[in-house]
Amino acid sequence: MSIERTLSIVKPDGVQKNIIGKIFTRFEDNGLKIVGTKMLTLSKEQAQKFYEVHKERPFYDDLVEYMTSGPVVVSVLEGEGAVLKNRQLMGATDPKEAEKGTIRADFADSKARNCVHGSDSLENAKIEVKFFFPNL
Ligand code: UDP
Ligand code: MG
Repeated sequence: MSIERTLSIVKPDGVQKNIIGKIFTRFEDNGLKIVGTKMLTLSKEQAQKFYEVHKERPFYDDLVEYMTSGPVVVSVLEGEGAVLKNRQLMGATDPKEAEKGTIRADFADSKARNCVHGSDSLENAKIEVKFFFPNL
């Protein structure tokens, strides 16, 4: 493993629940450094582009609607094996299937509204970091 960077998003439900700090603390306590962060509200076009891989999936329109429903916090996390580490801290997509102690198991309401996004591979991490932080 080596030092990697990955993209994290605290989704609108996470911001709404006032748990940005709790989520950041999990990153910091597990060796992930926040090297870039910002709060913004995604436009429909941004959300559609970001989730383009899911365009043909039945949940795509709802996902875009949800991701644009309020502010999000996008961050770049850096650390040893950051991509996988972040995915482990997040837990499975569906909080009912997520391991105890993960962000989604502890805070998320449903498979759709699941508090956080995290890049799923080093290749996608590079694309996603560039999408929100072209200078990083
Ligand atoms: N999603 C959904 N229904 C599903 C699968 C996914 O609403 O059946 C949403 C959910 O918000 C998820 C996002 O679409 O986080 C992207 O799905 P993916 O399979 O990439 O899950 P993730 O990588 O976020 O765990
Ligand atoms: Mg994904």
